[in-house]
Amino acid sequence: MKLLQGKTAIITGASRGIGKAIAIKFAEEGCDIAFTDLFYDDIAKATEAELKAMGVKAQGYASDASKFDDTQKVVDQIIADFGAVDVLINNAGITKDTLLMRMTEDQWDAVIQVNLKSVFNFTKAVQTIMLKQRSGSIVNMSSVVGVSGNAGQSNYSASKAGIIGFTKSIAKELGSRGIRSNAIAPGFIITEMTAKIPEDARKQWEASIPMKRGGTPEEVAKVALFFASDLSSYVSGQVITVCGAMNT
Ligand code: NAD
Repeated sequence: MKLLQGKTAIITGASRGIGKAIAIKFAEEGCDIAFTDLFYDDIAKATEAELKAMGVKAQGYASDASKFDDTQKVVDQIIADFGAVDVLINNAGITKDTLLMRMTEDQWDAVIQVNLKSVFNFTKAVQTIMLKQRSGSIVNMSSVVGVSGNAGQSNYSASKAGIIGFTKSIAKELGSRGIRSNAIAPGFIITEMTAKIPEDARKQWEASIPMKRGGTPEEVAKVALFFASDLSSYVSGQVITVCGAMNT
């Protein structure tokens, strides 16, 4: 029996990167996938086709996760199309890194809106259906810098620390209804997001990781599968770091 057979997952920001790796890992386990991204473009269509070829139901949706009304609309549409939501992966995220001295109000607001408000938006939108089902697993993508901070990332770290507080609160609020809420805190994962980091800074990061390499999106997806499935049926309100022992 596959771990997510007959389940439906919503994954935000999943046309590429870690979100896409989670979608593929879940599809391997028999899960139907509704995923969002800012645009339903060629990248999203290619991801959708890849998932469908794995024999599951899959559909990409254009939605800005930072927008409250957009989110309610897209979740309503997904429920109309799929009939249920068993798993929510709040994955959409951005960086606008700079030292506080140079950080603009727009850079602060954008990161908080996309990374943190999106988690509120989607969790609020799916909670009604999960409450009715009396089951559900919510997995939020935090970061090691949300646990330990990082110079030049005060906006990003604050958003990712906020996600941890939200995750733990929702675990306590909805636990009695069979809904679990957990967070993943990846370290340095090789995706387009980290490709933006200059080569010398990237080498320095890698040297500081006890496992001496960045992680892959698939390595994060395996932890998402643990949280999403019954493998973690009595685990809620937790944060697992996926960082090659960088943040211990
Ligand atoms: P990525 O940039 O490769 O992918 C992020 C996806 O989110 C993109 O497809 C992007 O279009 C989408 N997105 C951005 N804003 C959105 C919005 N407002 N609404 C909907 N979709 C939106 O990044 P990634 O490395 O795959 O990161 C995924 C998540 O993991 C993020 O939350 C990120 O903060 C977190 N994370 C990444 C790393 C890393 O090293 N890559 C480390 C820790 C945490």
